[in-house]
Amino acid sequence: MIIDKIDIDCPYCNKEFSISVDSVGSSVSCPFCKKEFMTEDDGIKSAVEDAENDILNTLSNLL
Ligand SMILES: [Zn+2]
Repeated sequence: MIIDKIDIDCPYCNKEFSISVDSVGSSVSCPFCKKEFMTEDDGIKSAVEDAENDILNTLSNLL
């Protein structure tokens, strides 16, 4: 995976932080307020995969 981190907002303190794409759909803890919450995969993983495929296509067209 090229893109392995995404930015999310904590639902408790509204601060933005990065989580690994693998954590999407499971519970994560906020580094600021230390609360745990579930992240939902609203097509985030497939959006990341699409973005990666676009990058790979662009790169292979350049070579
Ligand atoms: Zn927080």
